[in-house]
Amino acid sequence: MEDKSFNPFKMAQRQFDEIAEQLGLDQGTKELLRVPSREYHFTIPVKMDDGTTKVFQGFRVQHNDARGPSKGGIRFHPQETINTVRALATWMTWKCAVVDIPLGGGKGGVICDPHNLSMREQEQICRGWIRQIAVNIGPLQDIPAPDVMTNSQHMLWMMDEYEKLNGGKFPGMITGKPVGMGGSLGRTEATGYGVIYTLREALKSKNVDIKDTSASFQGFGNVSQFAIELYHKYGGKTVCVSSWDQDDQKSYAFYKESGINLDELLEITDKFGGIDKDKAKNLGYEVLPGDEWISREVDILVPAALENQINVDTVQNISKKVKFIAEGANGPTTPEADKVLSKLGIFVIPDFLSNAGGVTCSYFEQIQGNMNFFWTKEEVIEKLDKVMTKAFYGVYELSERKGIFMRDAAYMIAIARVAEACKLRGWV
Ligand code: NAD
Repeated sequence: MEDKSFNPFKMAQRQFDEIAEQLGLDQGTKELLRVPSREYHFTIPVKMDDGTTKVFQGFRVQHNDARGPSKGGIRFHPQETINTVRALATWMTWKCAVVDIPLGGGKGGVICDPHNLSMREQEQICRGWIRQIAVNIGPLQDIPAPDVMTNSQHMLWMMDEYEKLNGGKFPGMITGKPVGMGGSLGRTEATGYGVIYTLREALKSKNVDIKDTSASFQGFGNVSQFAIELYHKYGGKTVCVSSWDQDDQKSYAFYKESGINLDELLEITDKFGGIDKDKAKNLGYEVLPGDEWISREVDILVPAALENQINVDTVQNISKKVKFIAEGANGPTTPEADKVLSKLGIFVIPDFLSNAGGVTCSYFEQIQGNMNFFWTKEEVIEKLDKVMTKAFYGVYELSERKGIFMRDAAYMIAIARVAEACKLRGWV
């Protein structure tokens, strides 16, 4: 989330400006792509369980839809800000382009904390969000999805409200629906697995055997849990994970040198990805301050919680042993920290490539919904692996050929594709 000193949208713009310059984009294209095409701010009044009315602030930002309808999640977070949503919508445009799926970039949010809301109140927020934005989204315009602290139940309430307003069935208006209600098998695993497919190929490209590696993860939610599952399946060892503690209002890192046991940790984790620290202690985990995840002596770091976690201050704490960073979260590394990582020779798989598995599977959900024919989980996972692997090598080859940082190579590919679409449409 944005704090006083960190504006994620400014960071997204700085990243764009640098690459736009290198690509030699004309002034009009630069002006078009450095800001969102459209954004909506609205209120959502909700009758709370105690009889009072509370007004929540909602957002939807559509950054660019030259390559297809906007696509992107809706986050519920107490510190949500419009600049975070703008940045995330921008990154969605580049993400869809780098994996070459025919969608644009969007993002939405509501300032709220689901920890303190009943299911009925959350349902009212979901339905209210749709009522305020229904005319500006839809299967051919902008397709929302789950994100931080939203899930398949929220998506189904949203679809139901949209269908009531529009008088028909519109399964293609939202993704991340429950399986059996238009959802795709494999969606839950997709982002985490995608992170590991690109990591697997990165290690292979650098002749490192994944079985000889260890990793530390920030966050223990949807992305981390499935990334860890697949990483362990390939023979890797996770020694540390961190998570947010709602009672103490701070994060903790859970460390075990011999390697964490995913199943036992899952048993003591709540639905928000918070690990019970007392139970973890009893299971033999060292419980450390949350920021210790970054200083572990491991080969691989996987930030998979929030933005702005690897910055000028924290980058100094990265151990010399670290050779790879696979970014599960959106925007975890600042451009200043990037320069340090580049100097240290750390191989970074940038967020919008590494975590593109989620949107790729959402795109598969749309395809299956349109056909009204659903693939097996194996088919989905196999297709996902192909898309992620192909996208990784597209970026890796450019980065090797030009001798540039992986993030710059990924941006070059994505921005060039979107700029070309704008040009072909005659927008610039
Ligand atoms: P989630 O809500 O399931 O999990 C978030 C995890 O981060 C939880 O374990 C939480 O305890 C932890 N956390 C929160 N604040 C923390 C802090 N200060 N320190 C340490 N841990 C903290 O969310 P998710 O779906 O796993 O998403 C994680 C990141 O990945 C986000 O940046 C999200 O935008 C990005 N992402 C998610 C998807 C997806 O499909 N879920 C796709 C692309 C990108």
